[in-house]
Amino acid sequence: MSFYVAAVLSDVDEEDHIYNFSNLIVSLFVIRRGFFIQINNNMSITTDNKTKTNPYESMLARFDKAAGIIGLDNDTRRKLQRPEKQILINFSIRLDNGNEQSFEGYRIIHSTVLGPSKGGIRYDKDVNLNEVKALAAWMTWKSAVTGIPFGGAKGGIICDPSKLSKTELERITRAYTKELSGIFGPDKDIPAPDLGTGPDEMGWLLDEYSLLHGKTIQAVVTGKHIHSGGSLGREEATGRGVTINTLLALRELGIEETGATVSIQGFGNVGLHTALFLYEKGVKIVAVSDVSAALYNSEGININSLIKYSKENNKKIKGYADAQEIHADDLLQLPVDVLIPAAKEDVITATNASYIKARIIVEGANGPTSSDADDILQNKNILVVPDILANAGGVTVSYFEWLQNSLFEHWKIEQVNQKLEEILTKSFSTVLHVAKTFDVSLRIAAYILALKKVSDVDKAKRAADTSRDFKKN
Ligand code: NAD
Repeated sequence: MSFYVAAVLSDVDEEDHIYNFSNLIVSLFVIRRGFFIQINNNMSITTDNKTKTNPYESMLARFDKAAGIIGLDNDTRRKLQRPEKQILINFSIRLDNGNEQSFEGYRIIHSTVLGPSKGGIRYDKDVNLNEVKALAAWMTWKSAVTGIPFGGAKGGIICDPSKLSKTELERITRAYTKELSGIFGPDKDIPAPDLGTGPDEMGWLLDEYSLLHGKTIQAVVTGKHIHSGGSLGREEATGRGVTINTLLALRELGIEETGATVSIQGFGNVGLHTALFLYEKGVKIVAVSDVSAALYNSEGININSLIKYSKENNKKIKGYADAQEIHADDLLQLPVDVLIPAAKEDVITATNASYIKARIIVEGANGPTSSDADDILQNKNILVVPDILANAGGVTVSYFEWLQNSLFEHWKIEQVNQKLEEILTKSFSTVLHVAKTFDVSLRIAAYILALKKVSDVDKAKRAADTSRDFKKN
């Protein structure tokens, strides 16, 4: 095993989003078994290519606004803006055809102030450092808004899961787990599914981690299959939470839920379950899209029949007969009561925000709206239920799963759903109250709540550290 310790002294270069400090930064590079791991504590150095939009920058813009309103001091701002730990790994697996292929993966731990870090793992060809950093921070704010005792993290592997076989995906997941086995842990860092991953990947992760530790440790990961210790209700929890938030938002604007019109971008875990639950409530889903097509029916799409069709067609909705195909961008601009982006980041930007005609946007995806669109949507009087509130159902039931695993309990579905509804309803009304008090959007209100909570706990912890420093022996 070889170790290289590199000391980096750097200056500020905001243009390339390279954050630099006047203090000495020590990076530890570990090379073993052909894997390359970089561990940077409390720093943000990125060298990734500039992308068109930068979700991390969008997160910072909202952070700064909320921090200004609550008068957060500069030290705390700097600390909470940056991840505590950034890990970059590069590993190879054997493909089914016998060739080797290398993959780049990330695990970013944004904060452990409120508890062990928690966050999904994303398999997508567009995964990049800024995206994972933003996603990790959003996990911190999400747990804080809902009162879940977790910090925030996120992971990702640059790959196209649709082009990999089941066995290749298993090898990738096991290799990633092996390299991060010292980072993961039921009381340290707890992964979960995200875009491109699901119960299978979480099961492989659990198995590999348990093999490495010589015993089964179910609470190391959430979003598992039920027979591997998963919680009832976890798979559909994010969609159930988006539904709860949508119904609360409709009520807030005095819109009758029966017959209210909705368009949904994305028909994966979040989009599909949201569509199903809203459909069951009598809401009219007039448009749905996925990566293959966007569909529209002014009379409403029969979601049960669309789900059946997509299951029979490799999880794709293209070709479904009882709706007309429209341009993907048009789905965002339909005159509906509610627009639910449930696919990817930065789909609503300054470029298209002024064309949006929905009265409410409920963010099923993480970061679907870039910060440059916020003011445009607010000036159009569109009520935006932000991601860190709207899609928090997933982390909430992940917390229930972790609790059940830790306590060796199994909760009934009614118990899971009732507790979920209680937490999300309370969170929605608290965020609404803060928004009205400070005369800000729901998004900034959610950030205010989260920042206040995390910074208060952080300050209390730091005060304890200082008192130890001054203690005389
Ligand atoms: P998924 O992989 O199950 O589904 C993603 C869906 O989006 C698929 O239907 C895919 O075809 C579609 N899609 C991809 N690109 C698209 C495009 N350009 N236009 C339209 N559709 C497109 O992923 P998921 O778990 O449903 O996650 C979706 C979003 O929700 C992500 O932002 C994720 O971070 C967020 N989220 C997921 C969870 C969870 O529990 N799974 C929890 C909170 C937030």
